[in-house]
Amino acid sequence: MSTELNSGIPAGPLEKKWDNYKANMKLVNPANKRKYTVIVVGTGLAGGAAAASLAELGYNVKSFCTHDSARRAHSIAAQGGINAAKAYPNDGDSVWRLFYDTIKGGDYRAREANVYRLAQNSTSIIDQCVAQGVPFAREYSGELANRSFGGAQVSRTFYARGQTGQQLLLGAYSALMKEVEKGGVELFPYREMLDLVMVDGKARGIITRHLQTGEIERHAADAVVLATGGYGRVYYLSTNAMNSNTTAIWRAHKRGAYFGNPCYVQIHPTCIPVSGTHQAKLTLMSESLRNDGRVWVPKKKEDLKKDPAQIPDEDRDYFLERKYPSFGNLVPRDVASRNGKEMCDEGRGVGETGRAVYLDFRDAIKRLGEAAVAEKYGNLFDMYHEITNENPYKVPMRIYPAVHYTMGGLWVDYSLQTNLAGLFAAGECNFSDHGANRLGASALMQGLSDGYFILPYTVTNYLGTYSQELLKKVDTSHPAFEQAEGEVRTEIKRLLTVGKTGKRTPTEIYRELGNVVWEKIGMARDEAGLKEAIQKIDELQHDYDTNMLLTGDENLSTNLETAGRLADFLQLGRLMASDALQRRESCGGHFRLESQTPEGEAKRDDENYAYVAAWEFQGKGKEEVMHKEKLVFENVKLSVRSYK
Ligand SMILES: Cc1cc2nc3c(=O)[nH]c(=O)nc-3n(C[C@H](O)[C@H](O)[C@H](O)COP(=O)(O)OP(=O)(O)OC[C@H]3O[C@@H](n4cnc5c(N)ncnc54)[C@H](O)[C@@H]3O)c2cc1C
Repeated sequence: MSTELNSGIPAGPLEKKWDNYKANMKLVNPANKRKYTVIVVGTGLAGGAAAASLAELGYNVKSFCTHDSARRAHSIAAQGGINAAKAYPNDGDSVWRLFYDTIKGGDYRAREANVYRLAQNSTSIIDQCVAQGVPFAREYSGELANRSFGGAQVSRTFYARGQTGQQLLLGAYSALMKEVEKGGVELFPYREMLDLVMVDGKARGIITRHLQTGEIERHAADAVVLATGGYGRVYYLSTNAMNSNTTAIWRAHKRGAYFGNPCYVQIHPTCIPVSGTHQAKLTLMSESLRNDGRVWVPKKKEDLKKDPAQIPDEDRDYFLERKYPSFGNLVPRDVASRNGKEMCDEGRGVGETGRAVYLDFRDAIKRLGEAAVAEKYGNLFDMYHEITNENPYKVPMRIYPAVHYTMGGLWVDYSLQTNLAGLFAAGECNFSDHGANRLGASALMQGLSDGYFILPYTVTNYLGTYSQELLKKVDTSHPAFEQAEGEVRTEIKRLLTVGKTGKRTPTEIYRELGNVVWEKIGMARDEAGLKEAIQKIDELQHDYDTNMLLTGDENLSTNLETAGRLADFLQLGRLMASDALQRRESCGGHFRLESQTPEGEAKRDDENYAYVAAWEFQGKGKEEVMHKEKLVFENVKLSVRSYK
C-alpha cells in the first residue's frame, strides 16, 4: 500500500530552516564521538568531503571505494565549474536567485527547503576550497573569476580551467588524507559494496568484495553513508566513468531504501557524437563552451555536407538564439538537447551520421583572439582535437546529446537520511536537489554541500538521538551479517554455475540494455515505447538469468563484476520505465511525447504530478510500490518555465 512520505523539513521561514535544524539538533560530546564508527562508501566529492569532515569531528570513519586510490573517483572528470552565490561580478546574484534558478531549472520538481539550503551553503564551499588551496581561475586583479552556465543570467560559476572536478577532488582528498594520517579515517580501496546490513531496523554495516582478490568482507558501523555517484551507465554509453554503477544504492534499495524519481535523467547537449559500435564511453565537451561557442545547423539541406566555413551567416540557423532570445545558447541542458535532436530529426544534422550540430568558436576567436579562447578552454579544445582529429580553432566542433547525470537516486529526507534509519545518501546517488533537470555546475556544489556542510550535522543528530541503542555495539558476528554475506556468496555461485553453459557475455546483454533504455527512456518517451522497454528488459533479464556466459573463477573474474552490476542495471532500467510510464506529464529531462505545448516544449501537469515518486522494492520480478512525497511550494510560484 502506498503511503505519503515525510520529508522532515524544519519549521520556520525558508531562510531560517537550516539554522533552526542546527539549533535544535542532538549533539554528541567529544569523548563519545570516539565511540562511534561511520562507514562512508564512495570517495568522490560527496564521500571524500563527508569522510574528512566526520573524522575531523572525532568519529571513526571507514572509507570505501572501488578504485586503487580515493582520488580516482569519477568527480575528477568534472570540467566546467561549480556554482556559488558570491555575486562577485556584481551582476545581481544572491542566495535567493541561485535558489530560484535551481528550482525553476529543475522544472519545479525539487524540494524548496533543500534547494534553499544548497544555495546558502554554496558560498561557504568556495571559502572552504580556497582555504584548501584549490586553484580557482582568477581575474588579473587577483579576484576569483566567474563564468556563466546554462539556465542563469548571472555569472556565478567558479572554475579551474576545464579541470574543476580534479582540483576540487584534490582539495577533498588532502582533507581526507590529513585525517588518515591522524588515524581518524581508515581507507578501503578496491572494495565494492555488495550489500547493506540492517540490524533491528537500523543500518549497521556493509558487505564488500575485494576487486583484486575476490575476498568477501564484513564491516560494521553505527551509521552508513552512501556517496556512490550516479547511475547513468544504465545506458551503457554515457559520459560517466566506466566504473560508475548503481550497485551500492540498488542493493540498499533491495534492503528497503526507497528509490526517488528514477526516470529523471539528464542528457547533456554538448558531447562528442557516437562514432561506432566499438565505443564503451562518450566524451563531454563542457557546458562552459556555450559561453562563447554558438550552436547552429545549416538552414538548407544542400549545405549539410559543405565546409562550414563556406556557409555564410544568412544560411546558418543559430536555432537556440532564434528560439530563446533571452538565454540564447545558455538555455538549460534539457532544452538545448531536445532542440539539437529536433534539428537532426528534421534532417538538418551535420557530419557523417547526420546526428550532430555545430558548436562554433569563429566569432569568439574574432572577438577575443585565439590566445584568450585557449586560456579559457585550452584543455577542452585539445581533448576534442585528440579524439576527432579536427582542430576546433579552425572548424566548428560537432556535438550531440549524451547521457550525463541522473537526478533520480535514493530518496532522502531533509537530513539526507533514507527511509532506513542510519542510512544516509549524498551527492549524485541521492535524488534530492535538482528536480527533473540539473543546472550546469550544480552537481559539484551539491556533493560538497552534502559532504562538508550537511552530513556532519545530520549524522551527529542521528547518533545523538539513538545513542542508547547505538552504544550497544553490533559486531560482524551478528546473524544479520552472516545472512547478508551468505546471500552475496550464493548469488556469485549461481552466476558462475549458469555461466558455465550460457552463450551470451554480460557485455553483450549490457549493450542491448543500453540500447533499449536510450531508445525508449531517452530524450523522448511515450506510453507505447515505455511498455515495449519493459517487455524487452524482461527478455534481457531472462537471458541474464538463464543464458549468460561467465568465464574466469570466483576470485579473479572481472566479468563477475560486470555481471553483478548488470543485474542491478537491468532491474533499475525496468523501474525507470515504470516511473516514466506513471508520470504522464513532461517535466525537465522527462519529455513525454503525449504532453507538449503547441511549440513542442515540455508541458507540466502540476495538479496531478507535483510529487516525488519514491519506489519500494517488493522482490525480484515483482512490480514495485510507489510512495508519494507531495511537493509544497510556499515561496516560489509554479509557472511555465520559459527561457524565451
Ligand atoms: C564528464 C563530466 C563532467 C562533469 N562536469 C561537471 C561540472 O563541471 N560541474 C558540475 O557541477 N558537475 C559536473 N559533472 C557532474 C559531477 O561530476 C558528478 O555529479 C559528481 O562528481 C558526482 O560526485 P559524487 O561524489 O556523488 O560521486 P562520484 O564522484 O561518482 O564518486 C562515486 C564514488 O563511489 C564509489 N563507488 C561506487 N559504487 C561503489 C560500490 N558499489 N562500492 C564501493 N564504492 C563505490 C566510487 O569508487 C567513487 O569513489 C560532470 C559529470 C561528467 C560525467
